[in-house]
Parts: sequence; structure tokens; C-alpha cells
Amino acid sequence: MGSTGSVGIQALQIIEEQHDYFQAEVLTGFDNSKLLIQQAIKFQPNVVVIGNDNHYKEVFDALDSLDIQVYSGEKAIEQVLEMDTIDMVLLAIVGFNALKPLLVALENKKPIALANKESLVVAGQIISERALESGTKIIPVDSEHSAIFQSLMGEFNNPIQKIVLTASGGPFLNLGINELETVTVKQALNHPNWDMGDKVSIDSATMMNKGFEAIAAKWLFDLNPEQIEVVLHPQSIVHSFVYFSDASVKAQFSVSDMRIPIQFALAYPNRLKNNLEQLDLLKIAKMDFAKIDTEKFSNLALAFEALKLGGNIPCVLNASNEIAVKAFLSGRIGFMQIGKIVEQSIQMFSAISKPTLNDLFETDFEARIKAEEIINR
Ligand code: MG
Repeated sequence: MGSTGSVGIQALQIIEEQHDYFQAEVLTGFDNSKLLIQQAIKFQPNVVVIGNDNHYKEVFDALDSLDIQVYSGEKAIEQVLEMDTIDMVLLAIVGFNALKPLLVALENKKPIALANKESLVVAGQIISERALESGTKIIPVDSEHSAIFQSLMGEFNNPIQKIVLTASGGPFLNLGINELETVTVKQALNHPNWDMGDKVSIDSATMMNKGFEAIAAKWLFDLNPEQIEVVLHPQSIVHSFVYFSDASVKAQFSVSDMRIPIQFALAYPNRLKNNLEQLDLLKIAKMDFAKIDTEKFSNLALAFEALKLGGNIPCVLNASNEIAVKAFLSGRIGFMQIGKIVEQSIQMFSAISKPTLNDLFETDFEARIKAEEIINR
């Protein structure tokens, strides 16, 4: 799901290389019909779904001569998840739109390789409850969560004392607050270590991405907010740490290449041989760790505040952030305004402590409108 995005594209590279193990049964994209068509021709899935109905005819015509069923629309993205022929779902849709497909995958007991974090930010409690009820496995794809997941393998019920998520610091690590006021979209998209889509790249530059990872980690690993820390690690070699009660610390290391956690999630619990670059310790020579300036990266502090407030507040955090990031990408607001819009949006809501799915969809809808209003002021 989301095969035309950054994770989707890299997942297909894995599927191509590991064709003895994996086959793409269904491919879905939202807007990028050209790439979806190319992928369908190359990987020959049985079903293709284009989310945006306007591209249906184009995709249908292009694949007409092949033995591929073509559907369109958001509902179809959910319905294909009921297919018996799917063994596993790689959920690489960006943003809140991944929530419904995720719930349908859980309902149909499809193991999920989860690359989307917004769904967990918004509805982590409901997702973790339903995953538990249906006995469906969620294997994280995000490099930090994958590192924690891998560090916990073989730990049985040993309690986690705390986790430490590593943050590269993004493209603006060495800029001052004043300089951040005037950074351009192009600068913000230019991440030093990771190759990602636009939304995640901006979230990385503001560190909202790390905040989302903290909230998602709470639900993935059943933690309290106090057990989650973030440390700056510019080299992106250690992907996160787990501290145990006996003073042992485990971590997972590798070069920064998303194909490593993607392949791990798809192949779990096996480790398949591949041709990806191995870590060269002597080439790295040293690794740095430092405290994060949360005045400069105020989004990280906001995310932790939302995590502590809980209920539907992380939903407000996510919705207002999506609107603010879009406004920044289209040149309507400056970089530093992203955090201010999110902060003001959160202040306009009082928390619903155990929101239903309906409460969350309502909160999402209202928060988007409020964020737009704040931008238009
Ligand atoms: Mg990450």
C-alpha cells in the first residue's frame, strides 16, 4: 500500500532482489499514476488500485492488455485488503489516510509491516487493542522502531527500563533559531542521511517526525511517556537503544538505508542475505550523541506534551501538522510557523480521554479546519 512513495519504491527493490521470497500481489498508489503503471508492468501484481479516481481511466487503459485488475478510490484501497491471496501488508501510505486501511488489515488478520506512523499517533490505543484482540502482528518498518523491535527479540518478558530514539537532527542541525525563520522548502527537503518523501522530510527538519516516533513507540512497545527519550546522533548509525533493568543496553546498528528495516519487516523473523552496504566501523571512526535543543525544535516538545495529554490530542497534533506542512510546502507560511500553528491548534482543544474512532475522525476534521483558520488569519 503506497507503492509509489519512498518506502514503497524501496520495498519493490527488495521484492525484485528477493524474488524467491516475495511477490507483489497488490500495488496501490494515490496520485502518481505514471509510476504505478510502470510498477504494475514490471511486477505484474494481480490487482492495482489508484486512490485518486481521476486517474482511473489512464491506469485502466495502460494495463488493459495485461492480466491485472484495476480499481480506483479510497474504498477500493480498503477492500483489496480482504483478499485471501495477501499474506502480508506493507503499509507505506503517508499520513492519516493510512488509518482505515490499517484497521481493515487488522480485521482481516493480515500481518502488517507498518511504515506509517501517523495512524499510531492518532489511534494508537485502538490499533494496539485491535491487534491484540485479533492476534495480528505489527512489525515496524521505521528504522528507529525496527531497531527497538530487533533489540527486544529474545527478551521474552524482560521489562524495558527505557528506550532512547536517535535523531539525526535533519538538515538544520547547525542553524540557529533566527536562521530557521528564512529557510526555503528546498533546504528543508534536503535531508543529509535519509532518502524520504516530502512530508516525512519536512517532519524530519522540524523534528515532528521524532515526536511522532515517540508517540508511536508508546503504542508499539507499551511504554509510559517517561520511558521514552530522544538523543541527537548525527551519523544515523545507531537506530535506537533499549535500556534494561540490569543496566544492559541493546541497540541496532547499520548504514542509513531504509531497505534494511523494510527487508527485515518483510522477512521477519528471518534475515535474508542481500547486497546492501555493510557497516564499516573504521570508516565511521566515531559516533556523536548530544542533547536536543527543544526551544529550536519546538515541535518535539509539543509532541511530548501531546503524548502526555493523550486522548485525542495527538490527533490534533497530527492533523494540524499535516495542514501546516502542506502550507509550508506550497510557500504559504515560513518554516518556523509550522510549530506555532500546531501549538495554537492544540490549545483550541480540550482532551477527550478515551476517544472512539468516531471521536478521532471528528477531531481530525475539526483540527484541519482550525489549522487552516490559523494560517489564514
Ligand atoms: Mg525514522
